[in-house]
Parts: sequence; structure tokens; C-alpha cells
Amino acid sequence: MKAPKNRKWLKPFLKPIRSVFREVMLMSFFINMLALAVPVFVLQVYDRVVFHAGISTLQGLVIGVALVLLFEWILRQSRSRIMQTIALRLDVEVGRKLFDKVTGLPLRELEHRPAAFWQALFRDVDVVRNTLSGPSAVLLADLPFAILFLGLVIIIAPPLAWVLAVIVPLFMVVAWMSGHVMTEASRRERDSSMARDGLVAEMISGRTTIKALAMEDALRPGWEDRHATNIERAAFRGSRNDGFSNLGTSLTMATTVAMTSVGAVAIIHQELTIGALIAANMLSARMLGPLNQLVQQWRVFASYREAVDRLGQVFILDEDRRDSVIASERPQGALTLEDVVFAYRDGDEPVVNGVRIKIPAGGVHALVGRNGSGKTTLLKLMQGLYRPASGRVLMDDADIGQFSRRELAHWVGYVPQECVLFSGSVRDNIAHRRPESTDEEIVKAAKEGGAHAFIVDLPDGYGAEIGEAGRRLSGGQRQRLAIARALVGDPPVVLMDEPSSNLDRQAEAELRRVLTEIGRNRTVIVVTHSPILLAACDTLIALEKGRIALAGPAKKLIPRILGTAPKPVQAAAAPAAVPGPAAAAGAAPERREEAAGGGSA
Ligand code: ADP
Repeated sequence: MKAPKNRKWLKPFLKPIRSVFREVMLMSFFINMLALAVPVFVLQVYDRVVFHAGISTLQGLVIGVALVLLFEWILRQSRSRIMQTIALRLDVEVGRKLFDKVTGLPLRELEHRPAAFWQALFRDVDVVRNTLSGPSAVLLADLPFAILFLGLVIIIAPPLAWVLAVIVPLFMVVAWMSGHVMTEASRRERDSSMARDGLVAEMISGRTTIKALAMEDALRPGWEDRHATNIERAAFRGSRNDGFSNLGTSLTMATTVAMTSVGAVAIIHQELTIGALIAANMLSARMLGPLNQLVQQWRVFASYREAVDRLGQVFILDEDRRDSVIASERPQGALTLEDVVFAYRDGDEPVVNGVRIKIPAGGVHALVGRNGSGKTTLLKLMQGLYRPASGRVLMDDADIGQFSRRELAHWVGYVPQECVLFSGSVRDNIAHRRPESTDEEIVKAAKEGGAHAFIVDLPDGYGAEIGEAGRRLSGGQRQRLAIARALVGDPPVVLMDEPSSNLDRQAEAELRRVLTEIGRNRTVIVVTHSPILLAACDTLIALEKGRIALAGPAKKLIPRILGTAPKPVQAAAAPAAVPGPAAAAGAAPERREEAAGGGSA
């Protein structure tokens, strides 16, 4: 897919390096001027030294040309160094801008496209850097001198001018054609690489499941299909690339043959000296070098334009709010949802449909409902990860849209359904939400989250490395770390999505105590079907197809949901607590009042 043009974002990056580019141009000028020394040397040697046996002239010429070559080498080295500086600067600055952008984009935008798309964007930064600081940029600086060499050939050897008059336009046509064909071939290859890489990334992250279920036979056709498409497209691009490259080489050799033949006739007719012919041949080689490269590099320029456009398309997307207009005080933690509607895709059936509820500050509130009823989505809306399509989410009567992502992350602790940890130490992982946390705060959160006991049991304690995505820990240990991470820094609101799914009975009972404890001065909303945790809840909200079906004091509603009073031992075997549609529909309006009333009391 071709991205629409958007290259304006690059301007601020190019502005500071424009003066460096000018230096490169100046150096290229001298390098190309000095390069003239060799053809001049050859011309002089043939026409003066050889014919007049001028050994002393030869000595002078050799010393002179040696000095020139040394100087030219120094200039080339300096030019390379400058180009490296440009590369480094672009890498740092564009890479940082992309990182900031990707981390700042709304979650809905990030989820909208596959992981491979985002990975490929970081490769686009490489393309931009390589084009602006690699051979293509040097080629751009060298290209104007091809015209200079052409002029010199015409001056030194006028009879050869028409050969070049034919060959130069021919080169330009081949370069343009190569760019045209290669751009499309490269784009198709990139798309197929992205599809294959996406599958590989999914395969690697799910490697345990693949091994456990011996899924390789099921995955193979998909993999082979994508791999084959990628190979086919890469081979096509390679063959076209080779074709144009070979055409360029043949054209270069044909030029030498044509120039030598035409030159020989001119020498016979005494219109040209041998030295002039050889010098003209050398000059034309220097001229055709950049033209030949142009055939190769046109594709690079095309890829560069596409990479800039793709990055541009991402850079114009709106970000989550980064900075608040004024620093806000830590809220109390009351949450109000006013007719919140949200759909994952525009035009789709809303997943959260007109939810209106007031949750007072403090207390433990249960969120229940069937799978897919929108509980997780609602938790994400409550912490501003998604923006409602309509309606508002308020924290202490302030629309959370005005708060920055960082503020919301500080105020709302979140235990996701799948606890994602990152390689690093136990301490790092607990502190991820608040890197500035002190050791005391971390230990306190670990104790509250029920993680402290197992952490101090590890040989390295809080310094223990947990492996990629926390692979060295058990599911329950990961979950406890995620709970500790949510509690660090005493957030006024804590949202937990099935926090006991991986916990044993003892840990669950411990978590129940923790919920009661933290619910004293924090608002805790917990998605759970565990009767043990439900017993710790003050109020209960039941969702049904994205709408509130039931809401009110937990003590009153739990028996209705479970069909029994919550006796922990029996309840553990009871089915998940899901409100029946009939009960839900009938109870909805009245219960909603109850929740709101109870909340404000
Ligand atoms: P619950 O937590 O109650 O099981 P969810 O909030 O996870 O429900 O999902 C509600 C609905 O939204 C489901 O039908 C699910 O298919 C859909 N859904 C959830 N996450 C996404 C997503 N990232 N993109 C598109 N649809 C989603």
C-alpha cells in the first residue's frame, strides 16, 4: 500500500544538517577537481613524456600527482566522517521522534495495525538515515560533476562528443526505468516481509503453546505460503535489480568501445592525440560512474520517499495528551461514567453502550458479566486508554480527557488480564509505573500485592532477573508482581482484571484481605468471578452486552448472582458469577439508581 505524501516532518531535521551538507558539497567539489589530476597526468605522459623521452618531466608529474592523490584521500576520509556524523544525528533524532510518537499514540490506534507494521516503521528510520548519509547522498553531491566531466571530454576530444550525446540520455532512461520498476518490486517485497515477520513474531511469542500443542503442522502452511511469497518477490526484485545493474555495466563498456573506436578514427585523421583519447576515456569513466550508480540508487531514493511518507503518516496522527495545562492534585478517586459509548472500529456495534454510573471514592467494587460483555474495555475506558466515542469519564468530577497519560498512569493502578512483565529485575518491574519509587515504597507495594514472601525467597531477592517477559516466574508469581506494580505509589484508583485467575487459594484469600485493606482509602474496581474476592466487595456492577444490567450493594446482589450466599468452600466450585439476561434486564433501572444513590451517600 502506498502512503500518501507527507514529507514536511523531515524539514526540522534537515535544517540543522543543511550546513553540513554544504560542507560535503564543497569537499566533493575539491575531490572531483583533484580527480582530474589523473587524466591530466596520463595525457601529459603520453603526449609529452613518451614522445619526447622526458624522464625529468615524468618525475615532476609523478611527485605532483602523488601529492594530489594524498590530499584527495584526506578529503574523502573527512567527507566520510562528516557523513557518519549526519547518520548519527539523524538516527538519534528521528529514532527518538518515532519512539515518542509510537509510545504517545492512543491505544486504539496502536491496536488498529499489526505489530509488524510498527516494527517496519523503525526500519524506515534506517532507510532515511542510510539515504541521507550513505552512498546515495554522496552520489547527489557527485552528480553535478558528471556534467563537468562531460564538458571536459568535449573540450579535450571534440570528435567523441556525439558518442556521449547518445550514451548519457540512454543512461538517464535506464536509471528512470530502474527506479520505476524497482520501487514497485521493493514495495511488494516489503509487504511480504512484513506479513512473514508478523507471523514469526506471533510464533516466537507463542512458542510454549506451539510446542505444547505440537502446532507446527497447523502453522506450516501459513508460514510456507508467506515465506514462498516473500522469496518469490525478493527473487523478482533481485533479478530486476541485477538486470538493470548488468545493463549499466554493459552500457559503460560499450561506451569505452565506442569512444575508442571513434577516437581511433579521429587519431588516424589527426583530429585527436592518443593522450587525449586515453584521458577522455578516463574522464568518461568518471562521468559514467555516478550515472551507473544512479541506476542502482534510484530505487534507494524511491524507497526513501516511501519511508518518509510512511513515517509522515504516523507523525501526523494525534497523540494522547502528554502535558497537562496545569498540575492537578492527586484525586480522591471517585469515578463517574456519563453515557459512555465505545466501539473498537467506527461503524461497529458499540462494545460499551451508554454506560452511566457513579462510583464513589474508596471501597471495593466488583465488575461482573459474561465473557465479551465489555468489562475489560470498560476498565480501559476508566483509565483513559480508550477515548469514548460519546459520553465522558470523570475522575472527581473532572473529565479525564484533560489529564496526561502519565498523570492517569500515576493515579490509576491497573492489573491487566494478561500480566505483561519485561526483562529486568523484580524491583525494576514493580517500579515500572513509577521509576522514582523508593525501596520502601516498592517493598510496601510488594507486601500489599502478596509478592514480598516469594521475592525474598528468590536467591537474588528484589534484584532477581525475571527473564524475557518474566518467563522465569510462575503464572501466579507474575500476577502478584503485576498487582504490586499496580499498587506502587499509592494510586487513588486501582483497577484489576481477573487478578486471581492464576492465584492459589491461599494467595486468593490473601488478596481478599489486601482488597479490603486498600479499599479503605482507595477506589478498587475488580473484574472477578471469584466468590472469595466477591465477598470483599462493597458494591457490584454487572454488565450485559456493554450495558449495565445490574448494580447495587454487593451483599444484596451476590446471592442473586451466585444463586447462593457466598460461602467460600462451596462457592469455589460454583460456576462463574454471571447475571442472567432476564434478571439483568428487569433489575437494571432500579439497581442503577441504587448504585448511584449508594455511591453519593
Ligand atoms: P470482557 O472483558 O467482558 O470479556 P472485553 O471488553 O474484553 O470483554 O471485550 C468486549 C468485546 O470487544 C468482545 O466482543 C471483543 O471481541 C471485543 N474486543 C475486545 N478487545 C478488542 C480489540 N482490541 N479490538 C477489537 N475488538 C475487541
